[in-house]
Amino acid sequence: MCAYAAGQVYLNYMNGEWTAASTGRTIPSLNPANPKEIVGYVQESSREDLDRAVAAAKAAFRSWRKLSGAERGDLLFKAAAILERRADEVAETMTREMGKTLPEAKGETLRGVAILRYYAGEGMRKIGEVIPSTDRDALMFTTRVPLGVVGIISPWNFPVAIPIWKTAPALVYGNTVVLKPSEEASVTAAKVVECFEEAGLPAGVLNLVGGYGSVVGQALAEHPDVSGITFTGSNRTGKQIGQIALTRGAKYQLEMGGKNPIIIAADADLDQAVEATVSGGLRSTGQKCTATSRVMVMREVYDAFKAKLLDKVSAIKVGDGMEAGVWMGPCVSEKQQKTVLGYIEKGLAEGARLLAGGGKPADPALAEGYFVQPTVFEDVTKEMTIAREEIFGPVLALIPVDSLEEAIELANDSEYGLSASIFTKDIASMLAFIRETDAGLVRVNAETAGVELQAPFGGMKQSSSHSREQGQAAIEFFTAVKTVFVKA
Ligand code: NAD
Repeated sequence: MCAYAAGQVYLNYMNGEWTAASTGRTIPSLNPANPKEIVGYVQESSREDLDRAVAAAKAAFRSWRKLSGAERGDLLFKAAAILERRADEVAETMTREMGKTLPEAKGETLRGVAILRYYAGEGMRKIGEVIPSTDRDALMFTTRVPLGVVGIISPWNFPVAIPIWKTAPALVYGNTVVLKPSEEASVTAAKVVECFEEAGLPAGVLNLVGGYGSVVGQALAEHPDVSGITFTGSNRTGKQIGQIALTRGAKYQLEMGGKNPIIIAADADLDQAVEATVSGGLRSTGQKCTATSRVMVMREVYDAFKAKLLDKVSAIKVGDGMEAGVWMGPCVSEKQQKTVLGYIEKGLAEGARLLAGGGKPADPALAEGYFVQPTVFEDVTKEMTIAREEIFGPVLALIPVDSLEEAIELANDSEYGLSASIFTKDIASMLAFIRETDAGLVRVNAETAGVELQAPFGGMKQSSSHSREQGQAAIEFFTAVKTVFVKA
């Protein structure tokens, strides 16, 4: 099989057929490590294209909802096997399209396989409870019913895992789906949808519409036949989508940004803490919503931690994620590279001190790609822009602290509340951190960027619409509760 064909055109998938957008236009998807390479062309769809996809999903819902959960789960098991078989090809496409290293892309693809299997099993689990009625001749119980057509709007940073962790529960609970992936990662999304097609999903149950967020994404959020909209991406876009959904009474779920802190206590194992800071902050070029951004270090161990951290950062090999040995790839796009470099300039202008990185890599072989050096600042204060705004790039901000209370207060001094971690051996410190930190995911002696598919995931404050994804929590969004009263 041809694992990957550069410059191929990828079509929309609607009502079981691959079709071109009505505009006749496509969007090139570039390799951020080497922008001269066009990974593929994806469709620049119109509102009318989106309407057709929603109509197909609406028609398919009538019969899809009638299948049993086990029957729907069977199709997910088949899709999992196909994705597993195609994992190398899909991972390679991901690396070329959005830049993360091949081992990370492979890991994410296999996670997609595991998510499919997990939700395939959900088709056989309980969807309600019996509640005693005051009428002794009656049976009262709850059951869960699908919403109808669900719209999925996904970002580019986890182009396999996020579309799957939304699509799989949506489908297994009986919804039909219109997926609008990020225009930066739509080739990868098309390959994921091919796996569902090959698994034998009935026509119209899953539809893929490529295009710009301001056109297709907005139309999906506004469409009166879309009963639920699930979004992962930036806060700006999420808030717009939330407002649209609220106005028209649709159910919505938003998972957005983070400004995730790690606290290094005086008794921390510094080698492990450094490993977790580097991995959490710089892996995937810092482009994870759970990426470590603010590093609060107890003053007693500040110098020792800093020395070990800089040692580790200086050994990072930056380059094309397809190359063996490369640890950190490029930013996803030129726009993202400019944004990250802009934040670095702001950090310098506002008085932070640069300890490592700070610009594009000097290696002329990397001049064309959208690379940024792994960057570490110190003397960062809580007022600085780099301590407040989500950078979504390989930038760490070191902040010395004098007590756990101060560290937790700083950790909470953010509009975001997605993930947070602490390194300590002291049980009282762990418990205080777990109790007092405002984050949806708190981790002890582990990096901020770790998510397990069987556990609920989502943020507090501005990071989320306060709903949770993944694990069994997904049933809350993708179904409605029906209370049933039956009298003999
Ligand atoms: P983005 O908001 O720019 O785009 C996300 C999606 O929204 C894309 O598909 C885009 O086309 C679409 N979109 C853009 N404008 C739209 C509009 N007006 N109406 C409807 N849809 C629109 O985000 P991004 O740059 O792709 O992703 C990065 C962001 O995602 C970061 O902020 C990151 O923290 C966040 N993220 C959050 C999580 C989480 O689970 N909390 C996970 C991954 C990424």
